[in-house]
Amino acid sequence: MSLVKKRRKTRQISIGKVNIGSDAPISVQSMTNTDTRDVDTTVTQIRLLEKAGCEIIRVAVPDMDAALAIEKIKTRISIPLVADIHFDYRLALASAKAGAEALRINPGNIGAAHKVKAVVDCAADHGIPIRIGVNAGSLEKRIEQRLGTTAEAMVESALQNIETLENLNFYRIKVSLKASDVPRTVSAYRLLADKTDVPFHVGVTEAGGLYAGITKSAIGIGMLLSEGLGDTLRVSLTRDPVEEVRTGYEILRALGIRNRGPELISCPTCGRCKIDLFKIARDTEKALLERTSRIKVAIMGCAVNGPGEAKEADIGIAGGDGKAILFKKGRVIRKMDPENLVDELLEEIDNMMTNSEEINGKKD
Ligand code: SF4
Repeated sequence: MSLVKKRRKTRQISIGKVNIGSDAPISVQSMTNTDTRDVDTTVTQIRLLEKAGCEIIRVAVPDMDAALAIEKIKTRISIPLVADIHFDYRLALASAKAGAEALRINPGNIGAAHKVKAVVDCAADHGIPIRIGVNAGSLEKRIEQRLGTTAEAMVESALQNIETLENLNFYRIKVSLKASDVPRTVSAYRLLADKTDVPFHVGVTEAGGLYAGITKSAIGIGMLLSEGLGDTLRVSLTRDPVEEVRTGYEILRALGIRNRGPELISCPTCGRCKIDLFKIARDTEKALLERTSRIKVAIMGCAVNGPGEAKEADIGIAGGDGKAILFKKGRVIRKMDPENLVDELLEEIDNMMTNSEEINGKKD
């Protein structure tokens, strides 16, 4: 049974080769935290993100050198790039010229109408979309004075900005409505949902470090996706952006929307566990990140409950006293030496991956 309601109908836009909205898969994106002017370091990070499955990358463009660096970065990466612009509209023009496949602007801080028009004309000339990135922390003054930093204020800002762009005959738009807490973020997207068919970029901004960030993102993005709201997502963590991408896919997987790469299930351990399961689970998780096939792997603390509880897993191990067992789909295959458990398990997994009939599906 699916938890997810029918997806909201939207227009479709594309950022480079990635379609967003309508029936396109919900894409996972991230943002570099390198100095964009440092081309080598930025490219290295983007390539790691590509490997983790990132489908669209955004880079900060704080000055003209960063805008110019986009041209060099673009020749060395294979996912579309979005230029993130605040305050200076000329950086948007330079980024588009340098090959950015989309522009993210916060119209609240771009300023005068002629500047917004210049950005829109430039995006139209280059055939690239614009994300209207509304942020509760940086709303237009006149809206904030009247409505505060509420979900209603964010929605009003979004609607006004969508109207501004559409009055300029520009329709390649997506919108984000981000606040640093879940209730405002979710309320804002809900309020906007039936007022426009612009695709939604969803996320909870400045969500925090690992625990707060993942929790808020999973709940906020998860609630929206389960209501059919959201066409592309970014998890925002004060961490390596690769972790944002992994978290994004885990949210999609948990909701049964997309299933990328191996899935690891493991028990919390209890007094029956006689092996170092935490280490085994950590080592297995790390090794599985290098693999792309869809396979469900179980790491269970004991043979009493392990194979049975994890019988929907394609393959798994369960600890025992002095020995461990290997099982497939709940059926015990053989005993294993606890010394080389992870290596042996990975060997079995790799053999199964080449013989994909044993696995439920293939790549996402
Ligand atoms: S699988 Fe075994 S060790 Fe793990 S929680 Fe269940 S009973 Fe405890």
